[in-house]
Amino acid sequence: MQKVRVFVDSYRCKWCEACVVEMPEIFSYDEMTGKVAAIGEVVELTPALESTIVICPTKCIYVEEM
Ligand code: SF4
Repeated sequence: MQKVRVFVDSYRCKWCEACVVEMPEIFSYDEMTGKVAAIGEVVELTPALESTIVICPTKCIYVEEM
């Protein structure tokens, strides 16, 4: 399965937290910054991750192929 690193464009993110609900192992809300961020580790591009990217209302989740 494709390995990727996941990023959230914090300027376009509306903090709806849909990604946090769907995949808390990858996305989290940082109370210090008040923003949603993705873990910086390389993960597998699973169907669940692809689905989470699609449901993001502002399409601000990006992946970098490894
Ligand atoms: S689903 Fe998109 S807009 Fe909503 S919190 Fe996650 S990255 Fe931000």
